[in-house]
Order: sequence, then C-alpha cells, then structure tokens
Amino acid sequence: MATLEEFTKMQFEEDDFRPFTGEAHLGNFSAYYIPASGDLSIGVRIKLDFTDSKTGKWTKPDQDLFKKNLPLIAKDWNDNFLIKCMKPGWEKLKPAKPRFQLIEYAPPHYTMKVIAALKDCGNFVRPEGDGQLWAQSADRLAKAATSMINTKKDMKLPFCIPIDKPGGAQFSVQSLSTLETFATMTKLIMGDNTSKFNVELVGFGLKNDKTKALDPKANKANAEKVKSILEQFCGLKVKYQLFACEDEKPEDPSGRGYLGLATMGVVVYPNVDDIERFFPKDPTAIVDILQAPLVHEFGHMLGLPDEYNLLCSESVDTMVGLGVMGPNAKMIKEDEARLKDFGAASSLSSKSPRITAHQKAYIELCRDAGMPPPVFGKSTPSMMSVGTKFMAHHCVTVWKALCDMTKDHVKPDEWVVKLL
Ligand SMILES: [Zn+2]
Repeated sequence: MATLEEFTKMQFEEDDFRPFTGEAHLGNFSAYYIPASGDLSIGVRIKLDFTDSKTGKWTKPDQDLFKKNLPLIAKDWNDNFLIKCMKPGWEKLKPAKPRFQLIEYAPPHYTMKVIAALKDCGNFVRPEGDGQLWAQSADRLAKAATSMINTKKDMKLPFCIPIDKPGGAQFSVQSLSTLETFATMTKLIMGDNTSKFNVELVGFGLKNDKTKALDPKANKANAEKVKSILEQFCGLKVKYQLFACEDEKPEDPSGRGYLGLATMGVVVYPNVDDIERFFPKDPTAIVDILQAPLVHEFGHMLGLPDEYNLLCSESVDTMVGLGVMGPNAKMIKEDEARLKDFGAASSLSSKSPRITAHQKAYIELCRDAGMPPPVFGKSTPSMMSVGTKFMAHHCVTVWKALCDMTKDHVKPDEWVVKLL
C-alpha cells in the first residue's frame, strides 16, 4: 500500500474495463487516472460502419457531419460529478474528475452499425461489443419523432403507488421517486397548461378491521396523502380529483398489469384527453426529454441499463432487500417481467434473462456506490430513459473503474461521489 506521496506519482490504466461479469455483462471502456492532477479519462473507442437502408442513403457530407458530432456526447457527460478520496490523511489528494470521450479509433470497444434512416427505430448496444444506430445524424433531435410518440404513450399510463400498512403512510423511496418523476415530466411537458391538467387519484384495498368491508373514507384519505406529496413535495399544481375505489381493485385500462400483487394503495390516472390536448407538437419545445440517441447508447457502453424497461421481479427482490421498496411493493406480475423495450422491435431487443441479470447487478452496484437506483419502467428525463438528463446513478460504473484500478491503495468506501 502506497503512501499519499507515492500514490500521487503513480498512474493507473485499464484498457478494457468491464464493470460486470457473467450473464450481466454490459459495458466496456478504457479508464486512465492520474492522481497528481485528478484527471480521470473515460473513453470508448468505436468503429463506425455506415450502412444504407430503404429510407436513407449516406453521403460523404452526412458521414462527416455524423463524425463531427461524436464529441458532442461529452457535453452531456462531463462536469456532472467528482470522486473524492476520503481516506484518512489523504484529504489533500485532488478529487478525480472524469472526462468522457467517444472516438473512432482501433481497436474498437464497440462496432456501431450506423444505418441511414429518416424514420428511426431500434437503437441498441449489445454486450458482445456491437450496436446499431438508426439515424442520419448524431444530434439530439435525430430521434425526436419516435421519442415524442413513446413519451406521450407512456404519460397516459396510470400507475400504482402501493401502501404497505393500513393507517401508516408507508411510502417507499421508490414510490417517492416515481411521484417526483411524474411531477417533473408533467411540468416539462405541460408547461403553462400544467394547472389545467386533470389527474384522478383512486385509493383502493384498505378494509375496516372489524367488518372487513372496504373503507371508502380511509381509501380516500390515502389518495389525499398522495395528493399532498405531489403538491407539496413535488410542487405539482394540477386539478386533482380524489376517489375511493368501490371495487376490490381499480380497473387497469392499460392492460399493463401494473397493480400486480399490490393489495392496497393509490392509482394515479392522468387524463388522457388533456395529454392529447396539451402535449407539445414541436419537438424543440421539449428538447430536455428527447433522447439523444448517441448520448444514450454511450451510457450502455459504460454499462448502464435502459431505465424505461420495467423493473423485473428479481430486481424487486433486490430492492426490497435493500430497503428501497416495501415488502408489498411487488407491483409487477411474473409474466410482466418480460421486459418491454420501447426503443426496439421485440425481434431486435435483447432477451430478458440477460437484462434481468444486468438490472440486478446494476442495482447492487448502485448500493455499493451509495446511490439510489433509478425509477424503472417509466419515461423520465433521465438520459438512460427518454431524456437527456444525467442522474446520480449514472456515475456508478466509472466509480467502480476507479475503485478497481486503485484497489491496492484505497478501499471502495473511501471513494465518494460528489455530484456537481
Ligand atoms: Zn437503450
């Protein structure tokens, strides 16, 4: 184990760092750390394979523009976080400052087949080191049309906030994140029309202790609790209507099985007509929630999962184990664990055992790094969902690279992420 003085004279390098192993593996990048300056270069080398399609043909200027746009991913990834060394006596060590780079260089970590297409579909990166991108350009609006359709569709889906115990307002961290995400998306999308947006809250499942009959008053009170979280904690001022469900369970018009095993809770029904009416027609109005395809695929190259995929039941167990979800939080039925990949046709989407293994390993890594895991299964402004926003949990694979490289000198819990 080096002294601080010795450590600052060292350099650390990983040319093919893979944050996960076995079936879960996704992500491959190089990391180069210079303790003296704090520079932590995180790079992915790609080979570009330009391919023509029925809807588009590559020209030399288009290819050049695409290559010119590659470094733009750094704008979304750089300057989001530092990793500080908390080892006793090492306070003077400069924090590690990651700089991200995507370059066309050999030998590649990934081969990207870039398919010329005005109408895009099916972007992906695979653990085998290949990927596909359907876009004529690497810029942010390249996938705007599809992103808008998916976001609008997703926004119309009702969702359930499970409540664990009668009487007590037991909201898990995951439920609070879900409500906060809903509020953020609504405000971003509705803008000035937010106050005209109708949202129904339906409390269900709570029964009277003695009579075992449904207790409408208590169920409505649960809806009231969700309203106050949305209004006060998330600052979402919309037109709320509160109800108690008259049946055992509220209906599921989406057929998505979102209630699953939840026996008590509150369902949030966004008004579908209002979404049709107020959803912006112009993509530039909601550029913050339009996925930049390459920025997102770069996240996969770093080993991050898709967050619009549903949370698989295996991962729910992990979340319950970590205390992030309450024991009644099993909202997703086993057959719903077949993940829906909004971005790709099912024939292209990677199959669920691997996604399941990866999601689980990722949630565990979030725990190790002390980061809350993402909200899965919903459109969120996160760059690994439908948006362009960097989130705290996006730094965990880089954190792991730094921990692994320096493991002979610094313990993992001595490297602490500071968000900027
Ligand atoms: Zn993806």
